[in-house]
Amino acid sequence: MSAYLDNAATTKVCPEAAQAALYAMTEVYGNPSSTHTMGRNASKLLKSSREDIAKVLGASPEELFFTSCGTESDNWAILSGAEHMRHQGRHIISSTVEHSAVLRSLDLLEKRGYEVTRLAPERDGSISVSSVLDALREDTVLVSLMLINNETGGITDISQISKALKKRGSRALLHCDAVQGFMKIPFSVKGLGVDMLSISGHKVHAPKGIGALYIKGGKGLNPIIVGGGQEKGLRSGTEPLPQIAAFASAVKSAYPDMTAHIEKMSRLKALAVSRLSEEIPGLSVLSGEAPHILSISMPGYRSEVLMNFLEAREIYVSKSSACKRGGRSYVLENCGHRPEVIDGALRIGLSMYTTDEEIHALCDGLRDASLSLAKSLR
Ligand code: PLP
Repeated sequence: MSAYLDNAATTKVCPEAAQAALYAMTEVYGNPSSTHTMGRNASKLLKSSREDIAKVLGASPEELFFTSCGTESDNWAILSGAEHMRHQGRHIISSTVEHSAVLRSLDLLEKRGYEVTRLAPERDGSISVSSVLDALREDTVLVSLMLINNETGGITDISQISKALKKRGSRALLHCDAVQGFMKIPFSVKGLGVDMLSISGHKVHAPKGIGALYIKGGKGLNPIIVGGGQEKGLRSGTEPLPQIAAFASAVKSAYPDMTAHIEKMSRLKALAVSRLSEEIPGLSVLSGEAPHILSISMPGYRSEVLMNFLEAREIYVSKSSACKRGGRSYVLENCGHRPEVIDGALRIGLSMYTTDEEIHALCDGLRDASLSLAKSLR
């Protein structure tokens, strides 16, 4: 039996999203900017899609802007957010365990004269409120932190960080990369107290190639993609309606059962932790609280060898982040894990579709790997 357990890398498109994309491609295929009926129908679908996603975020539709992916949302928020605040200061706070979409944007800003403090995480990859406050300065203009770490599943308390920043009287904009957090833990943009928040479709059973950025108040950021003036002039490019409609459908159809999905993933994660800890001597669990990410390590074994062993049984997991090929995981390194722990690490990503059978197949597979891999093959 095959088991797809790499859902933190990407997810299977749900039938509702696939149907919505097909409908937009074959029926409502006008350009939303066209003034004829076909264009107006497309524009209506665009509007309702934006409303559906905004509602789940607790935002107003005017505050939601479609982008091509989570990476673009992160780039836009950070590059334009810092530029917007440049007259007030040039200091930015982020962390060493952010996604590369954030880290590379920060590198660019450093070249443009900004100063970046990259906070060290807790053991589970989360960032403490106190570390943010310790780094906060008069000239801090942007704080960018992820909600759930994509490799460890550590959850950062963005809401407390927002409150603490406000209490200190900071004017810094707060950006949250919620690509892994969206639909995996309940939150609203108001509850988190963020100014900008990034999400991505393909992590929530929509197709690849669609993301969104929440911008509080719906204005204030300069565009990084200019052209025909779509998305209120802030993100040009003909709107990819099939992806947008699919994104909205995936979110709208899963939202009523979100709590049940979270409970199911948490239960399956706990099942895996309990079986693996019992059956594999020396196994360590590296992950945080997120329901869908389980990071484990079998020190003394190599991740690639374990992955190949599992792949022969059609069980698919990943080494660390799928976005970074080769090299040792900088996230696990920055979380303070020993090299042999990092070299034997695996990331197991669950979704609302994950079954008990898949988790048992994984546990059987890793148990057999630990028993049968000769030391030299480890
Ligand atoms: N941020 C986080 C935390 C992610 O996990 C990812 C994808 O893995 C991204 C950003 C980038 O999103 P996308 O693949 O849509 O560009």
